This record gives sequence, structure tokens and C-alpha cells, in this order.
Amino acid sequence: MIPAAFQYHSPSSVADAIDLLETHGSNAKILAGGQSLIPMMKLRLADPQVIIDLGNINSMNYITERDGGVAIGGMTTYAEIESSNSVPYLLSETAGSVADVQVRNRGTIGGSLSHNDPAADLPAAIIALKGEIITSSSNTHRTIPADDFFIDLFTTDLAENEILSEIFIKEQPSNSGAAYLKFANKASHYAIVGVAAVIETDKEGKCISASIGVSGAGPTAYRAEDSENILEGSSLTDANISEAATQAGNNVEFNEDVHASAEYRAHLLKVYTSRVIREAVSRSS
Ligand SMILES: Cc1cc2nc3c(=O)[nH]c(=O)nc-3n(C[C@H](O)[C@H](O)[C@H](O)COP(=O)(O)OP(=O)(O)OC[C@H]3O[C@@H](n4cnc5c(N)ncnc54)[C@H](O)[C@@H]3O)c2cc1C
Repeated sequence: MIPAAFQYHSPSSVADAIDLLETHGSNAKILAGGQSLIPMMKLRLADPQVIIDLGNINSMNYITERDGGVAIGGMTTYAEIESSNSVPYLLSETAGSVADVQVRNRGTIGGSLSHNDPAADLPAAIIALKGEIITSSSNTHRTIPADDFFIDLFTTDLAENEILSEIFIKEQPSNSGAAYLKFANKASHYAIVGVAAVIETDKEGKCISASIGVSGAGPTAYRAEDSENILEGSSLTDANISEAATQAGNNVEFNEDVHASAEYRAHLLKVYTSRVIREAVSRSS
């Protein structure tokens, strides 16, 4: 289908993009990689009157090591993250699992996190990595912990006049291992359930800290806090890991759609949480 008519702007700076956003308010939509917005416009699920394309703002595309971590510009693509040696391996691994090479060449980290599709991969990894989301508007920048950013189905803490400008991830604990595993839709590769884990262990193999993010299971990505609490301080026995996996869906209203029933998603979550913890632990040593 053909989208409804819209006005097109292609600013070359963040300041100009914010000016346009403030001028046009709720009539405007930011365009990043277009891998979610364009299909929605073609299906007439979205009909913005004004498009503000960030594609010409080169200053939003970077991966820079600084302040004991790595800063990633909002317009950095999955492909760039996948091939970067500066980002934590978990983030490259997760970006490399998104869709196909065409989508990874166009789709951006800022677009994925702003859109907050429940089946998107990156939100789980950003939660597990305890990332911070930096937004820009005309008079301020905000730094939002990932735990507070993903609010609900396609809903984030981003205000109407804000652009997601950067993601910051602190260096991960030295003796930690991390992994992302998903049960993927065979056609699109979206996560029916995806789990990311960062597990820090001591010399005896005991868990010092655990950080687990989940995508696909419920309306929005979330932290599996009960699972983390079971693992932290434990000896990571089969029984501990199995109990942690069982608790990963506590308080979640499971999604139910043509791809999987709520019951099947709950089952997948348990299986994938258990597998990803084991994989992360094996990478920590
Ligand atoms: C065939 C196909 C398969 C896919 N498979 C997967 C998959 O396996 N896993 C997965 O995670 N995703 C998948 N996707 C979605 C893809 O990852 C999208 O790229 C992503 O959801 C949106 O990123 P984008 O840069 O394309 O954003 P766009 O589509 O341009 O924008 C998406 C939304 O975010 C807003 N936005 C974008 N950037 C910003 C910003 N910097 N600040 C504020 N708002 C912003 C836009 O206004 C829009 O509302 C798939 C898409 C397709 C077409």
C-alpha cells in the first residue's frame, strides 16, 4: 500500500531536528532506519503529516569509548554495532540476531529502543547491560536508566519533543559473562521470547551479580528481578538456575498472538532463561 501524503524534512543537525519536532508537535514523526515506521505508514497504521528524517545527521552515528564505558549514537545501525569491537559482546551478539542483513544495514539502535516493539531484541540486552538512554530536547538532556525507559507496549519514557540521541553502557564487571538467546519467529526473526543475561562470578564460580532482561514475553521488555535475586550469592547449581528460570515470568501478563499462546511463551521463557544463564556463566570463566 502507499502511505498517506506527508511533508518531508531532512535536517542536518540535532538542533534543527528538535526545532522541527517542537514546531510540528504530534503531527510529526522522526524517521530513523524506517524499518518499522515505513511499513506502519504503508499499512496506514501510522499517518504522520510531517516526517523528520535523521538520516543526514552524521553526528548521531558513532560508537565512542569514554568515561569508563561506550557511548553509541542513536542513528548507529545494527550492522555497525554487530561489527564493533568497542561495544560489549552481548550487544553485538544481539544486534547480529536481528532480522536479516538488509534490516540490519538500515535499522538503528535509537529506532529500536524508541519504538519498543515487544518482540524487539535490543531492549532485553540494554536492560541486562544496565544501559542509560540519553534524550535531547530544545533546552535539556535527560539520562534515563533502561529500567525506567521501557514503559509498556510501544510506549517509552520519551516525551513528544525529545529525540533519543545516545545510549551509554558502562564497562561490564571484569569476571562476567553475557549472552542473548531467543526463540525467533522463523520469517522475521523477531523474538517470540528473547533473554539476555550478564552473570558475574567469583573465583569459586559463585554468582556475585546477575542482570537479566527479557523481550517478547510480555507487552514490554523487563528486568527479571526475581531470577536475579535467586542467583546472586548462590553457587549456580542446576537447582538454583532452574528456580531462577521458573521465576523469570513472575507478574508478567504473557503475550498471546498467532505466533505463540501465552502458555507456550511462559514455557519458552523458562527454557531460554535457563539456557542463557548457563551460556553466560560458561563465558564468565
Ligand atoms: C522484515 C523485518 C524484520 C525485522 N526483524 C526484527 C527482529 O528480528 N528483531 C528486532 O528487534 N527488530 C526487527 N525488525 C524491526 C527493526 O529492528 C526496526 O529497525 C526497528 O524496530 C526500528 O528501527 P528504525 O531505525 O528502522 O526506526 P524507524 O522505523 O525509522 O522508527 C521507529 C519508531 O521510532 C521513532 N524513532 C526512531 N528513531 C528515533 C530517535 N532517535 N528518537 C526518537 N524517536 C525515534 C520513530 O518516530 C518511529 O516511531 C524487523 C523489521 C523488518 C522490516
